Amino acid sequence: MYDYLIVGAGLFGATFAYKAHQAGHRCLVIDRRPHVGGNVRCENVDGINVHCYGAHIFHTDNAEVWNFVNALVPFNRYTNSPIANYKGQLYNLPFNMNTFHQMWGVHTPAEAKAKIDQQRAEALQAMHDAGIDQPRNLEEQALLLIGRDIYETLIRGYTEKQWGRPCTQLPAFIIRRLPVRFVYDNNYFNDAYQGIPVGGYNQLIQRLLDGIEVRTSCDYFDDRTHWDAQARHIVYTGEIDRFFDYRFGHLQWRTVRFETETLPTSNHQGNAVVNYTERQVPYTRIIEHKHFEHFGDAVDRIPHTVISREYSTEWQPGMEPYYPINDDRNTAVYTQYRDLAATLPNVTFGGRLAEYRYYDMAPTIERALQCPLR
Ligand code: UDP
Repeated sequence: MYDYLIVGAGLFGATFAYKAHQAGHRCLVIDRRPHVGGNVRCENVDGINVHCYGAHIFHTDNAEVWNFVNALVPFNRYTNSPIANYKGQLYNLPFNMNTFHQMWGVHTPAEAKAKIDQQRAEALQAMHDAGIDQPRNLEEQALLLIGRDIYETLIRGYTEKQWGRPCTQLPAFIIRRLPVRFVYDNNYFNDAYQGIPVGGYNQLIQRLLDGIEVRTSCDYFDDRTHWDAQARHIVYTGEIDRFFDYRFGHLQWRTVRFETETLPTSNHQGNAVVNYTERQVPYTRIIEHKHFEHFGDAVDRIPHTVISREYSTEWQPGMEPYYPINDDRNTAVYTQYRDLAATLPNVTFGGRLAEYRYYDMAPTIERALQCPLR
C-alpha cells in the first residue's frame, strides 16, 4: 500500500511526488506514455536535445520556484527572443521598439507611442460607437492593446492558426500574455528568471523522481480498480473529463503536430523560434532546437541541426491534448467537473489537463509545491 498513487509523470506529478517523497511518504507514479516528463520530455537526436512536445522555455518571477529547480539542475542563460516572419518580412517579438521601428520606421518611444495611441483611439471609438465598454474577445483586446497594424501583421493570422477559431471568438486573456514595451528589448518574458536546464528537461524530471517508484506504459484507465487499491490518496494529473467518464461531455483542446527533420547545415534560421504570422503558411512556427542550449561559436560545432515545424489542429479522441480552449462553453463544462472533483476527498486534481488551464511550467511547479499533503 502506498500513501500516494500519482497518475501522470509530467511536471505536476513529478513535483508533487518529489515533495511527498521528501516528506517521507511512499509514492507510486504511473504514466500511460513509455517515458516520464509529460510534455517537457526531450529526446537526443544526433547530439541535440529536441523538445518532443513543443518548445519549453522556463521563466518565472518566483525566486522560490527558481531556487527550487536550480537546486536540482543548473539552468543555462537562454533568453527567448522569437522572430516573426510575415510574408518574408522579419519583426522582433514581443512588441517592442525594434518591432515598431521595423513596422513604421519610427525611432523614438514618443513616435511609437503616438502611432499606437492613434490606432488605439480608433479601436476605442469603434467600440464606443457599438456601445461596448470592455473588450469581449481577443480581437477587441488586441486592437485596444496595440492597434490595427500590429494586430493584422503579427497577431491575427498566427492566433487563428494556433486556435483554429476567429479572433472574435477567442477569450481576451490569451493576448494579455504578450508584453508591449517602449524599449529596444527583445526578451519575450518580463520575468526576472529564465533559462533551460543544462542537458535538457529530462535532467530535471530525473532529479524530481529520484528514488521514487515509477511505472511507464501504465494506463490508469486500463484497470482503475486495481490502481485505486494501491494507495490511500490519488493525485490525478490526466484529463479531468476522462476521470469522470465524460459525463458532462468532452472538453475541447487544441493539439499540435510536429514535423521534425535533421538538416545538413549547422545553423538553419539563426534563432530558436521563428513564428510565421501569416494565415497562408500552414505551420505556426519553426523551432531550431540547438539554439536552446548551444550559444555563440558553439552553434557551429555541431555540423547539422534539427528543426520542427509546428502545426496546430483541433483535438480528436486518441490525440494528445495540448491547449485548453477556455471559451464559455468549455469553461461551463469544466466547472461541472471541478465541482464534482471537489467532492472527492481522496483525490487531488492538478496540472494543465486536470485543471483545464493554460499553465506555464513555473506555475505548475508552484501549484504542486503548494498542494497540501494529506
Ligand atoms: N501570438 C501572436 N503572434 C505571435 C505569438 C503569439 O498573436 O507571433 C498570440 C497568440 O494568440 C498566442 C498568444 O499570443 O496564442 C500566446 O502566445 P505564446 O507565445 O505565449 O504561446 P505558447 O508559446 O504558450 O504557445
